[in-house]
Amino acid sequence: MKEITIQLTEKCNLSCEYCFAENKRGSEISADDLNYFIDFCKKNAVESIHVTGGEPTLYSNFILSYIQILR
Ligand code: SF4
Repeated sequence: MKEITIQLTEKCNLSCEYCFAENKRGSEISADDLNYFIDFCKKNAVESIHVTGGEPTLYSNFILSYIQILR
């Protein structure tokens, strides 16, 4: 597998005209699910990870998760 996409959070503080998000105060991925995702990527030799939201930088553990994904 070469590419995979993960949505870290539904939260967003932007107002793009083309937005179709229904809940910008919504949920975010749990720590357990993020760990599962990272393990999955390592086991399947994922080469490229696309991080989406919402606005991904609003994810509560964004910096920590970014470091975990890069390791
Ligand atoms: S969720 Fe995406 S498209 Fe919608 S306002 Fe935020 S950044 Fe823009």
